Amino acid sequence: MNIAVCVKPVPDPKHYDKITIDPETKLLNRQGAPTVINPADKNAIEAALQLKEQFGGKVVLLSMAPPSARETLTEGLAMGADEAFLLSDRAFVGSDTLATARVLAAGLKKIGSHDLVLTGSESADSGTSHIPSQLGELLGYAHLNCLTEIQLEASTLRLKSRIENGYAEYEGSLPMVLGVAREINTPRYTTLMGVVTAGKKPFTLWGIDDLGLDPACVGLAGSPTRPGELHMPSHGRKSEMLAGEPGDVAEKILAILRSAGVLA
Ligand SMILES: Cc1cc2nc3c(=O)[nH]c(=O)nc-3n(C[C@H](O)[C@H](O)[C@H](O)COP(=O)(O)OP(=O)(O)OC[C@H]3O[C@@H](n4cnc5c(N)ncnc54)[C@H](O)[C@@H]3O)c2cc1C
Repeated sequence: MNIAVCVKPVPDPKHYDKITIDPETKLLNRQGAPTVINPADKNAIEAALQLKEQFGGKVVLLSMAPPSARETLTEGLAMGADEAFLLSDRAFVGSDTLATARVLAAGLKKIGSHDLVLTGSESADSGTSHIPSQLGELLGYAHLNCLTEIQLEASTLRLKSRIENGYAEYEGSLPMVLGVAREINTPRYTTLMGVVTAGKKPFTLWGIDDLGLDPACVGLAGSPTRPGELHMPSHGRKSEMLAGEPGDVAEKILAILRSAGVLA
């Protein structure tokens, strides 16, 4: 049972105040905010490790991110994953969800055999939930999101996913792309031994040439999404200074409240 888990490094919520929006490009500038593993991706790693414990095999982590993401992936290795792949190249900067899915799909194809691809159901920073379905389509695998149960019996996957007013149950066959909801499990803590061994596990860095991708299909050039105008909501309050004797001011207040329809 070889499982690939897509892991997105996201800004640590404790440092959201360091995230800014570029007024020109309208893109998020996450520089300066330390990154952590996207919360739902920890649940995806946990789900993969539990399947590995039941059926054997290997759990590999895959991320498209800047080189600094190595540290974030190492945390996933410390949880118990066997190997990590970081897809990093200046050409990937500015990728929207489709371009991101193209890079991840190319990485998965190059890694080779996997029976299952797990992702989180959504990221904590962009949160479109596009990636699981886009990856499924690009790989030619069936795909499902918001999984709250994943069980494998013989070669049949028994799946439960959260829908608007409840849950839906499905059967599927491998390979599939499954987006994991946070309620599926509680991610394990990393042990001291996990941390010690994580740095010795195989780690591979691939750029655009390794993946054989056309630069026109990735990054800003390969992204059909264009962020629109941004507006700050206005929270201004109307105010008026009233001067005069207390009795006059009270009359003025009553008149204002009547004209605003607050008092009859
Ligand atoms: C025009 C444009 C330009 C952008 N430029 C940038 C940029 O320069 N830098 C930037 O950081 N973001 C950029 N973004 C945001 C970027 O598109 C999203 O971060 C990315 O496509 C993933 O979308 P999401 O977070 O909504 O994924 P979701 O679909 O919400 O994520 C679901 C799951 O997919 C997996 N996943 C998502 N992203 C990755 C990843 N990178 N690696 C591994 N697994 C992943 C995770 O398992 C995650 O839980 C840009 C967006 C647009 C529209």
